Amino acid sequence: MVFKKVNDYLYLLIDESYYDTISSALVLPNKLVIVDTGVHVAKMKEFRKYVEEKTSKKFDSLILTHHHSDHVMGNQFFSDCRIIATKTVAQKLKTWKKSMTTEKLARRIEAVEDKSAFDGLDITLPNEIFDDYLEIIDEDIKIVVKRTGGHSKGSTYVYCPNYKILIAGDNLLSNFPPYGADPSSDPDVWINTLREYLTLDVEKYIPGHGKVSDDKLVKYMIEVIENIRDFIKEQVSLGKSKEEVQEEGYAKNFYPIEDDDSFEARAMRYTLSNWYKFWGGK
Ligand SMILES: [Zn+2]
Repeated sequence: MVFKKVNDYLYLLIDESYYDTISSALVLPNKLVIVDTGVHVAKMKEFRKYVEEKTSKKFDSLILTHHHSDHVMGNQFFSDCRIIATKTVAQKLKTWKKSMTTEKLARRIEAVEDKSAFDGLDITLPNEIFDDYLEIIDEDIKIVVKRTGGHSKGSTYVYCPNYKILIAGDNLLSNFPPYGADPSSDPDVWINTLREYLTLDVEKYIPGHGKVSDDKLVKYMIEVIENIRDFIKEQVSLGKSKEEVQEEGYAKNFYPIEDDDSFEARAMRYTLSNWYKFWGGK
């Protein structure tokens, strides 16, 4: 687990035990804003304390980039704050919480390296819902919160034009192939979202997993998704089956994957089959 001060405005928690999942703390003139709360319950509590001590400021808001469980496990430590999410994300989390059983949580922990990650978990839901756009203003600093969709229907980015920082959630990944396994993933919207990023004044892109990046990563992701799209569309027009597209698509190595039995490999195959349906495959 790494707590990292990037500069006076940005602190990160990077969870090396789960695909370098990133939670980002933005420092505003009078308060702190956190984006996503990661996988590890106890570490998020520590991170909050760490940033508040370092900055002598208090957290005021938590913004969720999307509903996936590796981004929301530490929400409970921000129940005194605005917990902001889109309608879609709020609904997904509500359903997820309702359906969560001890058995389900036990199965989820199998995929996580640190078996104590969920100790003390109290799934905490958003308390402030927005549709597509919201701004947080503190003195002369503005934070834009915008839902775009892409990786999932509720996927949202957080952009600070003053700090030239964009926090992308899983629409940007620097250590993992584009993850399109969510049923609401929309790769056409995803490409447009990444193109939108490039129109903004950004120096530091913070992905959902990996490390702080620049626009090269955004351009690379566009290229990977477009290559997958062009391949699948062609295969669909040739009447290829889902299995054929999955197998041939995987062999094409759109994104370098070393271990064919890894989560990355399974995610890539699942993404190919999901997007096969998306672009009209039967
Ligand atoms: Zn995700």
